[in-house]
Amino acid sequence: MTDPREPKQAKGVFIKTYGCQMNVYDSERMRDVLRPLGYAPVESADEADLVVLNTCHIREKATEKVYSELGQLKLTKQARGGNLTIAVAGCVAQAEGAEIMRRQPAVDLVLGPQSYHKLPEMIARASRAVGDRLETEFETLEKFDALPKTREADGPTAFLSVQEGCDKFCTFCVVPYTRGAELSRPVDDITMEGRSLAAQGVREITLLGQNVNAYHGAAPALTNEADWTLGQLVRHIAKIGGIERIRYTTSHPRDMDDDLIAAHGEVPEMMPFLHLPVQSGSDNILKAMNRGHTADEYREIIRKVRDARPDIAIASDFIVGFPGESDADFEATMQLVRDVDYAIAYSFKYSARPGTPAAEMFGQMPEEVKDARLQQLQQLLREQQIAFNRSKIGQTVPVLITGKGRNPGQAHGRSPWLQAVHFELPHDQAMTIADLVGSIVDVRVIDASLNSLSGELVKVREAAL
Ligand code: SAM
Ligand code: SF4
Repeated sequence: MTDPREPKQAKGVFIKTYGCQMNVYDSERMRDVLRPLGYAPVESADEADLVVLNTCHIREKATEKVYSELGQLKLTKQARGGNLTIAVAGCVAQAEGAEIMRRQPAVDLVLGPQSYHKLPEMIARASRAVGDRLETEFETLEKFDALPKTREADGPTAFLSVQEGCDKFCTFCVVPYTRGAELSRPVDDITMEGRSLAAQGVREITLLGQNVNAYHGAAPALTNEADWTLGQLVRHIAKIGGIERIRYTTSHPRDMDDDLIAAHGEVPEMMPFLHLPVQSGSDNILKAMNRGHTADEYREIIRKVRDARPDIAIASDFIVGFPGESDADFEATMQLVRDVDYAIAYSFKYSARPGTPAAEMFGQMPEEVKDARLQQLQQLLREQQIAFNRSKIGQTVPVLITGKGRNPGQAHGRSPWLQAVHFELPHDQAMTIADLVGSIVDVRVIDASLNSLSGELVKVREAAL
């Protein structure tokens, strides 16, 4: 007998994700709310009945990519006589709203990051051609409450959203306008989602937020305590059976408190990796960016974190060519990079975003200057990244197996420092790679490149057997 709860007819949904990990997480949650409606994920727009573009507005190029993708989707929709639903979600949807449907009438739905729980209702309305096709309200708590508390895991690693939005208002950034005010989820809700993920075989959880270390969510109901911090939350999540690794991203230097730093040294599940964006090494530019700290204060935080966890890998984000950035300001950034010595860092040319204070500032920089600075900075960051990866050669490191590698017989996994690791399973190994996904194994690193490590299996640990 068929289960009456099972959807009758499978439809395909293709969700294309742009931008940050928040968007990756939101795409997973959209899949969750669409599943009961009979939508199963497919690999491309060609196989889909519903296409969702989950967009990013952080830089101008990202927005333009969305419009060009929508142009392609319009052609697919026309070729099918209109039988394709096109939805635009994420931060471009939030920022541009109805303008998207005006520029591209083939779009059926536009929904901001706080409205994903309304997606089923909006699809129903669109198919009946009644009601609103635009949802860009800021109701973060409603979104968190309305999304299912448990979710389907997809492999041994997962993101878990603990905080949304941002109140920092860095002068270059659209996030406070597109994602709304900062809001933290209650600890009990996060724990429920974490337990559900662990029960499905998730071993590594990355706690997510635009400003994750500003977390201050309602303490567990039974404790009667005031709001918990991220340090408290991490210690709590570490107690969930099966969760062997915890990460969090993205943090702000101003919210790096002593308890969180101590947790890096005290909680064995806490991975030795910290993504702490600094954006610039110049105090003038940091001030103009409204970052609220100096370059030396940042150096001091890194020193404390390294004291707590000496092998920690430090990652960051940089913006070059911010309005008014002089040669000396840029050199201060290069010096900070030399001083900190990063394992990995992302760097961008400043992109003026309409509505942000920096877009109106004097001293907008010419593209050639931004290009030259970006090249110089990226060269140094690449050298540091390669050196960091090479420093692992000869070490035996614990690797969480996430799947098959590129070549037959090769497994793919993650080191504690978030490096991709490839290694061969010995031919006499009784287990297949599929059996080992989700296990942590010891791998001796024999080579390293810019983006990955390669090694040989030393030992499958007890827990994996
Ligand atoms: N909340 C994080 C923080 O405080 O650093 C970063 C969030 S933002 C989504 C990710 C990165 O995009 C930023 O760290 C910054 O380097 C980059 N970014 C944001 N706005 C930008 C802009 N207008 N131009 C260039 N890069 C930008
Ligand atoms: Fe944007 Fe600054 Fe908030 Fe990060 S802290 S999301 S860069 S406003």
